[in-house]
Amino acid sequence: MFRQMRRGRQQLSAGEAEELLRYGSSGVLAVHGDGGYPYAVPLSYVYTGGKIYFHCAKEGHKLDALQRDPKVSFAFIGEDTIVSEKYTSYFRSVIVFGRARVVEDESERLTALRALAEKYSPDRPQEEREREVSSCAQALIVGIEIEHMTGKQAKEYVGRARTGEEAGQ
Ligand SMILES: Cc1cc2nc3c(=O)[nH]c(=O)nc-3n(C[C@H](O)[C@H](O)[C@H](O)COP(=O)(O)OP(=O)(O)OC[C@H]3O[C@@H](n4cnc5c(N)ncnc54)[C@H](O)[C@@H]3O)c2cc1C
Repeated sequence: MFRQMRRGRQQLSAGEAEELLRYGSSGVLAVHGDGGYPYAVPLSYVYTGGKIYFHCAKEGHKLDALQRDPKVSFAFIGEDTIVSEKYTSYFRSVIVFGRARVVEDESERLTALRALAEKYSPDRPQEEREREVSSCAQALIVGIEIEHMTGKQAKEYVGRARTGEEAGQ
């Protein structure tokens, strides 16, 4: 049921899309919100084990929405370079469709928390990160099982390899 990209030449390979997602700092989760309105909410996340995880308050609009309807979309902008003389932006982005669920399994929850800590505080000592993870005993973690993922880049990037800097390395 998922659509083909109309401008297929601009589609990134699955590996390139995954790499973008791995290095991104935040994305926007879209859920089926209140009263028929979509609700798009920015979040920090980690992509690990083929899934997207984020931590979440124990109540609120987003949690109510995804518990009512687990089908979600998640969009991430990997690059948005304005090129004024061309009246355009050279971009790279990823869009995911999948199902969200509160992670109940304790070992999966801890793995996701550790992955979040490693992603966002890689420079901090491991023991400190472990303490932080232990202090999040009550934190709620949501996982997104990915059903469809595509990456797209500006047409100006087609056929051009990414530099290390562009790849976030
Ligand atoms: C870069 C970034 C990273 C973030 N990372 C996380 C994260 O990892 N985990 C996490 O739980 N939250 C994160 N947040 C905060 C997140 O965007 C939400 O504010 C938060 O998750 C609460 O969502 P809720 O639906 O429970 O809020 P509720 O308070 O229940 O939302 C009620 C209403 O408040 C408004 N609202 C809520 N959030 C925002 C917002 N961010 N901006 C403007 N209006 C808003 C909307 O109108 C919404 O319908 C992040 C925000 C940013 C910008």
